[in-house]
Amino acid sequence: MAMHSLKVTTNNAAETERFGETVGKRLRGGEVIELVSDLGGGKTTFVRGLARGFGSADRVSSPTFTISHEYTADDRTLFHFDFYRLHEPGIVADELAEAEHDPNASVVVEWGDIVADVLSANRATIAIKALSESERELLITFSDTLSYLFTD
Ligand code: ADP
Ligand code: MG
Repeated sequence: MAMHSLKVTTNNAAETERFGETVGKRLRGGEVIELVSDLGGGKTTFVRGLARGFGSADRVSSPTFTISHEYTADDRTLFHFDFYRLHEPGIVADELAEAEHDPNASVVVEWGDIVADVLSANRATIAIKALSESERELLITFSDTLSYLFTD
């Protein structure tokens, strides 16, 4: 599988959100996106834009107690999982696996280490690095099959 990588730099949270929105507009269903960063890196900020671009009218929040959130637009669903501080994936891992197999669902995951064995090998990974208080470098890796998400 040919892999590609792309580097995107944002100068503030609004830019990260706008990049998420651009990607969200391109979702078709069947994608898995893993977000990797330290706490406060901008993962949820990206998802906020992603959900808007996807077509959801609901506001994205950090799911502190809820591990999964669902956003709907027409006949499609965007699943947002956040496994922060979860030590035992349990039933949510089954929910993740089910979402990944739904061709009408797009999946975005924060803190996915605990479910590494469930995460689709064919996923896009966005690793976010804080360059300063407000600058972020997004290193995106993806296979050919997901290139439509990141190219015009
Ligand atoms: P995470 O989900 O990775 O823990 P959040 O998206 O919840 O991170 O928080 C990111 C924080 O960093 C927010 O307070 C946001 O305003 C701030 N921030 C500053 N610059 C950026 C940037 N370029 N991109 C994303 N967030 C940024
Ligand atoms: Mg978060």
